[in-house]
Amino acid sequence: MKIWVGIDDTDSREGMCTTYLATIAMERIEERGDRIVGLPRLVRLNPTVPFKTRGNGAVSFLVETNDVSEVLEIVREVIEELAMLKDANTHPGAVFVSEDLAIKLSYFADKAMKDLVTIDEALFIIGKYFIPHLKFKKGRGLIGALAAIGAELNDFVLELLTYRYPERFGTQRICNLEDFFEVDYVFYPKIFDTVDWCNNVVVALPGTPCPVLYGLRGENLESLYEAMKMIRSEPIDKFRVFITNHGTDMHIIDEKDVKELKNYRSYRLTGVVATEPYDIIGGHVFFEIETRFGLVKCAAFEPTKQLRNVIRKLKRGDLLEVYGSMKKDTLNLEKLNIVKLAEIKLEYNPKCPKCGKRMESAGRGQGYRCRSCKTKSFEKEILNVKRDIEEGFYEVPPSARRHLTKPLVRLDTTTKKHIFR
Ligand SMILES: [Zn+2]
Repeated sequence: MKIWVGIDDTDSREGMCTTYLATIAMERIEERGDRIVGLPRLVRLNPTVPFKTRGNGAVSFLVETNDVSEVLEIVREVIEELAMLKDANTHPGAVFVSEDLAIKLSYFADKAMKDLVTIDEALFIIGKYFIPHLKFKKGRGLIGALAAIGAELNDFVLELLTYRYPERFGTQRICNLEDFFEVDYVFYPKIFDTVDWCNNVVVALPGTPCPVLYGLRGENLESLYEAMKMIRSEPIDKFRVFITNHGTDMHIIDEKDVKELKNYRSYRLTGVVATEPYDIIGGHVFFEIETRFGLVKCAAFEPTKQLRNVIRKLKRGDLLEVYGSMKKDTLNLEKLNIVKLAEIKLEYNPKCPKCGKRMESAGRGQGYRCRSCKTKSFEKEILNVKRDIEEGFYEVPPSARRHLTKPLVRLDTTTKKHIFR
């Protein structure tokens, strides 16, 4: 029989990574003689939930086995051995779901990617379908464990994760940084978000003491394997390719599907600029748009770097489509589409047809006159201000990208894309 194993919330800021823990579990399950079917899945959940592990990513994989309880025991052993159980915020959970039941979890998974779900909701599903499970401490990981199985990955991206030898965990990663730029140069856009050229950052390298050495993100398995060969680094202990919802916008709720906006959710909204952009200390830029939900404050925070230069040029009346997550009643921008720039007109006194100088007012209701040539005019001159931005899509640079955010390079649109690579 085939069963899905889902695992989540095993890591902490101090270390571990659920993908690594799952990789060890898969190895031990294979050693036992069972077969892992296809690629494991790494599913990112709602990135704005107030209580979460670093990346809020859960893992699932399909096992062909004749003994579910033995698989469960292996997973229990690996969690007890590797999960950061001593961390106050780590609450692992694992579930074992028969293959035909997975489809029943898709609604729950969709909610876990877009909305807030409680441990009770997860426990309700577990009870309803008699799902074998492992619950450590508060068992918050049960939410992601179920969601990683139920998520429908109609759109997906592959992620190749390389892992360090355990004795190196927590130490400085040794990699030839230039090789990542070379990978981007050679394989983009099949492999993307490896580096951020403008901000000179290697995005593929994690910033935490987790077991991951680096991760490569792409559309195609062969390219990922070839790229891995190009990167000179400390020895790699193991690697694994995951099917993920990275770069898919699966967290985004469309405005047409909701009656109100709530914090800790991510949206696509259309609106017209009502309050022009202003900077605050720290380099954060804010503006407001008028939407069908009323005024919505939008923010491009300092880490969004060059996107702020686009935002600063917005004017009242510009029609936008914005993507981002709501926190503190503010939409944190991930990308935007300038649908229509407002026409901005300035009025001038007319020019004298004889001498070319600007005329002066001849008095209230009297039009304009040129003092030297005695010419007269009643028409003001109206000039369109030339806007120094273009319509189309703009995005945060790779260094500020969320796992779930669909980069413009993946966006299927005929609208002009201004890609920050
Ligand atoms: Zn004149």
